[in-house]
Amino acid sequence: MSKKYVYLFSEGNANMRELLGGKGANLAEMTNIGLPVPQGFTITTEACTQYYEDGRKISPEIQAEIMEYITKMEGITGKKFGDLENPLLVSVRSGARASMPGMMDTILNLGLNEDVVEVMAKKSGNPRWAWDCYRRFIQMYSDVVMEVGKKYFEQLIDQMKEARGVTQDVELTAEDLKELAGQFKAEYKSKIGTDFPTDPKEQLMGAVQAVFRSWDNPRANVYRRDNDIPYSWGTAVNVQSMAFGNMGDDCGTGVAFTRNPATGEKKLFGEFLTNAQGEDVVAGVRTPMPISQMAEKFPEAFAQFQNVCQLLENHYHDMQDMEFTVENGKLYMLQTRNGKRTPAAALKIACDLVDEGMIDEKQAVAMIDPRSLDTLLHPQFDAEVLKKTPVIGSALAASPGAACGKIVFTADDAKAWAERGEKVVLVRLETSPEDIEGMKAAQGILTVRGGMTSHAAVVARGMGTCCVSGFGAIKMDEENKCFELGGKVFHEGDWLSLDGSTGKIYDGAIPTVDASIGGEFGRVMGWADKYRRLKVRTNADTPHDAAQARTFGAEGIGLCRTEHMFFDEDRIPAIREMICSDTVEQREKALAKLEPMQQGDFEGIYEAMEGLPVTIRFLDPPLHEFVPTEEDDIEKLAADMGKTVTEIKAIIAGLHEFNPMMGHRGCRLAVTYPEIAAMQTRAVIKAALNVQAKHPDWNMVPEIMIPLVGEVKELKYVKSVVVETADKLIKEAGSDMKYLVGTMIEIPRAALTADEIAKQADFFSFGTNDLTQMTFGFSRDDAGKFLDAYYDRKIYENDPFAKLDQTGVGRLVDMACKLGRKTNPDLHLGICGEHGGDPSSVEFCHRTGLDYVSCSPFRVPIARLAAAQAAIKDAQ
Ligand code: ADP
Ligand code: MG
Ligand code: MG
Repeated sequence: MSKKYVYLFSEGNANMRELLGGKGANLAEMTNIGLPVPQGFTITTEACTQYYEDGRKISPEIQAEIMEYITKMEGITGKKFGDLENPLLVSVRSGARASMPGMMDTILNLGLNEDVVEVMAKKSGNPRWAWDCYRRFIQMYSDVVMEVGKKYFEQLIDQMKEARGVTQDVELTAEDLKELAGQFKAEYKSKIGTDFPTDPKEQLMGAVQAVFRSWDNPRANVYRRDNDIPYSWGTAVNVQSMAFGNMGDDCGTGVAFTRNPATGEKKLFGEFLTNAQGEDVVAGVRTPMPISQMAEKFPEAFAQFQNVCQLLENHYHDMQDMEFTVENGKLYMLQTRNGKRTPAAALKIACDLVDEGMIDEKQAVAMIDPRSLDTLLHPQFDAEVLKKTPVIGSALAASPGAACGKIVFTADDAKAWAERGEKVVLVRLETSPEDIEGMKAAQGILTVRGGMTSHAAVVARGMGTCCVSGFGAIKMDEENKCFELGGKVFHEGDWLSLDGSTGKIYDGAIPTVDASIGGEFGRVMGWADKYRRLKVRTNADTPHDAAQARTFGAEGIGLCRTEHMFFDEDRIPAIREMICSDTVEQREKALAKLEPMQQGDFEGIYEAMEGLPVTIRFLDPPLHEFVPTEEDDIEKLAADMGKTVTEIKAIIAGLHEFNPMMGHRGCRLAVTYPEIAAMQTRAVIKAALNVQAKHPDWNMVPEIMIPLVGEVKELKYVKSVVVETADKLIKEAGSDMKYLVGTMIEIPRAALTADEIAKQADFFSFGTNDLTQMTFGFSRDDAGKFLDAYYDRKIYENDPFAKLDQTGVGRLVDMACKLGRKTNPDLHLGICGEHGGDPSSVEFCHRTGLDYVSCSPFRVPIARLAAAQAAIKDAQ
């Protein structure tokens, strides 16, 4: 039998998400549990994949199967597709496995044409409704299928409203809408060159194809990249008979959450519009009413809806986000899904669900997106300054967090300004999916229109970006890039602060303070710690960062980069002197100046880490990074060293390398200048001895890490310098302190010969930044120039510097672990590249059997949670 590409809602269920997409699977599930769902069918994600395989065509077989299901739908609904007397009108809706809000487009009222609408207008006695449906259909179809562009139609609507002297769409009459439909079709013809399609079958195939096609639109591609959704999944298409919320005042449409998605409060939350259809609620065309008012307008439908909410929550064991329509007082459910929520709400809901006995601790841990924790850790407004700063306005608290930045008025400006390092607040009338990248670049978003479920609000919550919406009090002048509020004009570049938790808007910049882990956050992290196996360390170079990371739960330092301390103003002269020395003696003299400073740094870090393990990496970057470029500095260095300016310039010129990242750096420095390694060893060991003496109850075991090893003899050589120096100091101190010497694995050759290297190493730490760079053969600093082309052509789906390339680089890591443990069963294994804080990479590290991951302080909680999720998934 050939493959089945189409399923009736009654044939599916919630577990068929891969095939039916999230929306389709849940429509099927709601159908199964007996909820009022307009019936229809789902065209599978495999049909989408097939469409791309067939060169972007829907094969005749699949087309035939779709039409077969239209016939089945006709049987179920008693209506007929394209029939004049009793027409079947449908919506065509996309739905991928993971919900991608606003990324794909929906077409409503498909099946209408001039003949059908005329009869429908007459027979229903409600011509306004019939023409409203038709003009909406032309509008959506033109936009989605033929890509004519929304704005032309919106202009026509605005002109019509102006001509009629009305402000709201609902005030337009049947005649007005009929006239509009005519104008729309003319617009269509002028843009496309052919008449608007009248054959419902042709309309349907066009719409299905448009949904498939939208899987590959630029917005969808960006969203997928940001959310780790593979391109290969494809999207399903749902074809569903229409429920009409636009037949009059006993009709309407709404969206609601079973709990508050901003705070997590257990209370129905949502919005509703009477006599409206589809996206009217979220598009900000009219300002919707809070869901509670629905109780007054439609008491029966509302009571039923409340029951449905309860039922769905109990069924899915999670907060639900639902879309529904009321047609002549009767409720229809159009969608349910686990609702997107702010990070704070996610934590509260998880804890509440555990307390309500709906889920267990592991499920609570699994339901939180680790990446979302980021925002909770970032600064909040300084409460003291906040109290004193006058509030200039207040609107809807759409997505929490504190934002402070300069005003910009377009998404492009937001992106451009952010790229040059400015903090910006994006102020818009309303946002649309085209604005995503600008919204991402902004500290916060302020919109004039739109409610809590507007595009801006939903997307901002998803991104964890602060958003205040519906700030109607301002007079916007987008063209001149300014707005007016209470007599004051705000221009592009002026500072503005927003509080997305309270909805308040402040004139000027308010300083922010660091966040801490407590309450529900702490509770969930406690559960995560209980279930994870991987340890989580941090990459920290200063006592401040180390202490910060400790408060976030770091269990040690996986990477302390010693060179970061060399750039201080009071140190750089000594390091320059060291670099420009001609003899070993001169160099040692300069190093002697640096040694006490390094020792002091290490003591500070050891103190901050309170006896937890600390891996200190020896000098890594090419030396030319430290030499002066300014004439004054060169002169000063020459004077200090008793050399001429010409001599110093010659030395600097001599340090020039064609490819410094593959040049004289890492352990190669210690091979040429072993005295550097000796000095760093002294600083590490002396610091550890001192701290151990001060804290007898701590067990100090310094870890020394040699970077950029590619050959075991390199490591052996540098290690001999370290061991000789360290043993002597420890002996002199009369101590029996242990220490470890290990290496970074960041050159493919090191991974390939890891069995040899492991004989000389106490630990490996995978430096996946360099390892990625060297494995791919392109640098992190240059890849940005061409990676976009690679994304466009689907050669790579993600930035390999952000998300570990498990296929290639991961294979090297896995191989090095296995080879290393073969010759050194006690080998300790960790990762210290950027990937240590990326959830999917953390999962890889868990599976590969590493002992720990190490990441920047703010990502420590993310790694803890991701490690727990990996362990929980693994145990299942
Ligand atoms: P999105 O994924 O962007 O939310 P949907 O497919 O859910 O898109 O469609 C958007 C809106 O269109 C729905 O919320 C609903 O209001 C309306 N809609 C879709 N299908 C129907 C239908 N069969 N009857 C009535 N309204 C519908
Ligand atoms: Mg939509
Ligand atoms: Mg929807």
